[in-house]
Amino acid sequence: MKYVLVSGGVISGIGKGIIASSTGLLLKTVGLKATAIKIDPYLNVDAGLMSPLEHGECFVLDDGGEVDLDLGNYERYLNVTLTRGNSITTGRMYQHVIERERRGDYLGKTVQVVPHITNAIQETIEETARTPVDDTNEEPDVCIIELGGTVGDIESAPFIEAMRQLRRRAGRDNFVHIHVSLVPVISEEQKTKPTQQAIRDARAAGLAPDLIACRCIQPLAEATINKIAMFCQVEPMQVLAVRDVESTYHVPLLLEQQKLIDQLRDLFRLDAYNISPALVTKGHQIWSDWKKLTTSQERFLESETVSIALVGKYTNLHDSYLSVIKALEHSAMACQRKLKTVWIDAEHLEKATLDSNPEKYHKAWQELCTANGVLVPGGFGNRGTEGMVAAAHWARTKSIPYLGICLGLQFAVVEFARNVCGLKSAQSEEMDAQTTEPVVIFMPEVDRTKMGATMRLGLRPTIFQENTSWSRLRKLYHDAPMVNERHRHRYEVNPKYVSRLSDAGLSFIGKDEAGERMSILELKDHPWFVAVQFHPEYLSRVLRPSPPYLGFVAASAGVLEKVTAENAARQTTTVNGDAVHGPGSHGLTNGVKSAP
Ligand code: GLN
Repeated sequence: MKYVLVSGGVISGIGKGIIASSTGLLLKTVGLKATAIKIDPYLNVDAGLMSPLEHGECFVLDDGGEVDLDLGNYERYLNVTLTRGNSITTGRMYQHVIERERRGDYLGKTVQVVPHITNAIQETIEETARTPVDDTNEEPDVCIIELGGTVGDIESAPFIEAMRQLRRRAGRDNFVHIHVSLVPVISEEQKTKPTQQAIRDARAAGLAPDLIACRCIQPLAEATINKIAMFCQVEPMQVLAVRDVESTYHVPLLLEQQKLIDQLRDLFRLDAYNISPALVTKGHQIWSDWKKLTTSQERFLESETVSIALVGKYTNLHDSYLSVIKALEHSAMACQRKLKTVWIDAEHLEKATLDSNPEKYHKAWQELCTANGVLVPGGFGNRGTEGMVAAAHWARTKSIPYLGICLGLQFAVVEFARNVCGLKSAQSEEMDAQTTEPVVIFMPEVDRTKMGATMRLGLRPTIFQENTSWSRLRKLYHDAPMVNERHRHRYEVNPKYVSRLSDAGLSFIGKDEAGERMSILELKDHPWFVAVQFHPEYLSRVLRPSPPYLGFVAASAGVLEKVTAENAARQTTTVNGDAVHGPGSHGLTNGVKSAP
């Protein structure tokens, strides 16, 4: 097993995730099978209970793992399906060691951070790295390890020590360390001191970075590169300049231009490594697809715009909806449109805001009214839900394309129940446990009391119901009888209200296997009013956009018919070197994906 460690210095949030994903992609282009692990040094066992406003989106895996959003980047860039094991936190490691201690596994020894935690980290990494993650179903050749936080933080110390030891354990030609640093510009001068300091810190901790990736606003001047090389005791070619780019899809190209592949070839002595010719060919295909993708994306950047109002409660931090935005981008590209996301705080659409801050209220409504489509994404808790009801009402009654995701489905149902079925006090139990018209209720699959990892999580089947061949969404899923998508929720449409809602025109076209859980709703007499209880954004890929998003963006751009026809013609296509089903058929492949 070969390892690439990607760590960071100077500041957090410096783009390690994209650099790690891009490095993995480049290794795939030479024919290696790549996997990735994210280490988050915080004490939380997983990302399930962390606020999206603090940490960005909680990404959900097929197996129901609730993990850091970087795992979403790995899945998208490397075209792999990861498991909860690919996410390592301090909490998880301590929990593991403490459980073993309680079982008596340590035979009376004093249990310590070194060696017990550090060994557990290495063993977990070695085991996870070997787990097959792609359609070859074979052990990966290389594992990217991204270490969150910055070197020097107290909480990352055991991980750094574990990485130092892992480097020895893996052997000379099997471990490459990329340290990501920042080169700020002060009075037009590129400053190298923070990088020098960051490298000194890494070395003091026993790490020896092979490559220094410098984040910078502009390209690095040659003099800056030479200075970093000189003071950090590396060759200039070991200094990679990762300047800000229009789109993160360009980062692999930027790294390739700086000969990262050649350097990795040398460091890993890949010339002596046995890579299957089929995978080498596939690797070339991946690279040519990727280059095509970035150039075509530039073309779309200049084309016509489709504007989507995203009505949510975590709009202050755009990373809270990272996969939603990615899925919209994938779809906009398929529709040959430039995506304009209009961020609307759902609370600003509420009557209470009209009283307290009329300016905000009118601005929010003006933005909602002028958008081509309305999207209400997932969320938790009361705040903003009346604004979501208002947004769903606007889209439904004005024939504006609507996409509801999870909470966005639940509140589309509340709106319909109130305004079409006349159930004026319809509400979700999540917002009012005593409501007299609970159209959305608590329907846990497992535990009713614990909060952590007890939601309905991960890949679950949705069965398209009889007499739904009229459904526009179903067509985009290639008329599949069922689809598998990832879920993350506790509440669901109350089965007792389903016939009432359906009789009034709200069609539940997709349900779970038992027919008890409502997974997809669609309005027949509307250009595009679709809501899903699952989160299709987690499975969207650049070259294989998620069907609910694709239909929504296409309808918003006025090209639904054309896109549906193109999509139907693309039943089987070659993407990323594999023959795969066209966009939307991923549900049939049980979550095994084949496009970036
Ligand atoms: N809060 C809702 C539930 O738990 C919706 C969850 C979501 O949007 N992810 O069911």
